[in-house]
Amino acid sequence: METCFRSVSKLLLTTTLRRLSFCRYMAQAQRHAPSANTPTHGSKGVGDPPHGFDYFLVLDFEATCDNKNDPRPQEIIEFPVLKVSGRTFETEATFHTYVTPDVHPQLTPFCTELTGIIQDMVDGQPSLTQTLKDFDTWMVEQGLLTPGVSSVFVTCGDWDLRKMLPSQCSYLNIPVPSYFKQWINIKKSYSKVTGHWGKGMMMMLRNLQLEHQGRHHSGIDDCRNIARILGELARRGAYFQVTSWR
Ligand code: AMP
Ligand code: MG
Repeated sequence: METCFRSVSKLLLTTTLRRLSFCRYMAQAQRHAPSANTPTHGSKGVGDPPHGFDYFLVLDFEATCDNKNDPRPQEIIEFPVLKVSGRTFETEATFHTYVTPDVHPQLTPFCTELTGIIQDMVDGQPSLTQTLKDFDTWMVEQGLLTPGVSSVFVTCGDWDLRKMLPSQCSYLNIPVPSYFKQWINIKKSYSKVTGHWGKGMMMMLRNLQLEHQGRHHSGIDDCRNIARILGELARRGAYFQVTSWR
């Protein structure tokens, strides 16, 4: 009886917390609407995508980790971004590099097991500081910083851009580029379309009847799977909006 009472209380508490989180998200969305990542300049015309984004930049970092406590500071070891067309939802270009950690350059066996990233893949690769410069060059080359071209980052959860990148930039004493300050958390887009909380990438793929491809926790494969979720949500009529800010 007591166990049953505890289960019901836990369920009620979880539901209330989810509702509160959803209300907070809606309030935040209204406060920030209709801002996007870059389209503060130029005017949109006939034939533009309904959601207003020319490109979605699907991003999924992998970072140093261990089975009990993550190394401190935690450092990015894989930095992949897909440039996905806002019209066709096809991937038009890819930025992808492995990254050498500055503080703990030796990966743990747990990290290799989880991500499939072996020591050789990070040794001799650029640091995060260099990677951010290379990424900025890529953004320019791809026309993503050109006035009138709108884009928005897409991640699975808020960890990549709310926690991981800002904390490492703060440790390195370098600024977070302003284009990383807002993004679409695809779990929230998924929730809006399906009415169910998008618990994780694997669950969203399963529920959308999409087969998982590649290796889970490989950053580049995770990006490809997130891009497939994005495309499927678009096919189901999603109207994409920025969901998260920092
Ligand atoms: P993901 O985007 O889910 O592939 O995970 C991003 C990063 O979070 C990984 O590179 C790890 O640093 C950390 N991470 C994810 N899952 C775990 C886990 N089960 N245990 C420890 N760290 C994890
Ligand atoms: Mg990943």
